[in-house]
Amino acid sequence: MRTTGTHFVLCRSLTGDPVGMDGFCLKLLEAVCLGTSLAVSGVCYYLYRKNRKSVDKLDDAPHLVLDKHLKDILNVTPGACLQYVVIEGAVQPVDQSLTSPFQKEAVGVLQKFMLTEYRLVWNSLSRSWIDSQQVVHQRVNTVPFVLLGSDDTTVKVLCPLQASGLHMETTYEKFHQVNHGFTDTVLEYIGGQKTKGQLETEEMLKVGAALTGVGELILDTDGSLSLRPPSNGSEYFLSITGFDTLRGDQDSRAGWWRVLAIGFALAGSLVLLWVGRRYYCHLRARWEREQERREFERLQAEASRTGSAEAHQDGGHLENVCVICLSQPRNCILLDCGHVCCCYSCYQALPQHLCPICRQNITRVVPLYHT
Ligand SMILES: [Zn+2]
Ligand SMILES: [Zn+2]
Repeated sequence: MRTTGTHFVLCRSLTGDPVGMDGFCLKLLEAVCLGTSLAVSGVCYYLYRKNRKSVDKLDDAPHLVLDKHLKDILNVTPGACLQYVVIEGAVQPVDQSLTSPFQKEAVGVLQKFMLTEYRLVWNSLSRSWIDSQQVVHQRVNTVPFVLLGSDDTTVKVLCPLQASGLHMETTYEKFHQVNHGFTDTVLEYIGGQKTKGQLETEEMLKVGAALTGVGELILDTDGSLSLRPPSNGSEYFLSITGFDTLRGDQDSRAGWWRVLAIGFALAGSLVLLWVGRRYYCHLRARWEREQERREFERLQAEASRTGSAEAHQDGGHLENVCVICLSQPRNCILLDCGHVCCCYSCYQALPQHLCPICRQNITRVVPLYHT
């Protein structure tokens, strides 16, 4: 088998024998493209299924009204626990609330400070400055809080930091521009990084905000109600935008993952089609060579029957010897150029269908008759 570098190595590693499918090999690039697109498609499909499942669970979750009847429902529920419910109420601190250091009137139960640095980074590939940002500092403060219903019934919210979908209200935002001296500017220019400034933000879950919680509801032995992350692996949600927006977000995310999964699966099938087409061409070329060999042998047998081939068999002159192997007699005429320069086995071993003398394309080969 004649094959070069990467093909050979890959065939060995993929099939364990260097021949593979009748000498057909998957190229390294094809294998990489196929593997990558199928793997990425698989990951996207997994994420799509996960998001889809959480949308289905949201649809199946009962919506409970936060009032005094809630305890009666839980009292008759086995284990005093409802595994996945939707409940809405107003945010109230159990004890003390948090006050914003920037706005005295802003009080909340969850507070997040963030310092983000904005930079321009030189990209040598696109030869331009591109924006980049990085969170350099983050701090979260939280105090115990409850959801308050219409008739003073409360549900304690446990582990709020484990919840998804909690986008809080921004209570403070300030951009601190960096003013550089001349030397700093030159040094930054040479280093390929320019600092634009830092953005300081504060987000807060304010007291009194209407919060939608989706999770496990339990009635403790002391008679208090709590909402906590579901023990059955379902996703825990807290949202100030309401249930419909929360569900819509999950739904559109699932949609995006599905589009990506289909896209990468299509890319994978295109690569497979391409490999299939190459395999078909390979088989066709083999079949054509086989036909040519049969035809050559038939013509040669015909020639030896008439005794004409013997003339050159015993010749053995140096000028009659194949230019490639220098041992066999020249016994084929390459068409269309008409050169007689090699033996049939050397012709078959040519890497390309080109005449070794004039580099013209060989369309047909016929045996040489000596008269
Ligand atoms: Zn030869
Ligand atoms: Zn030629």
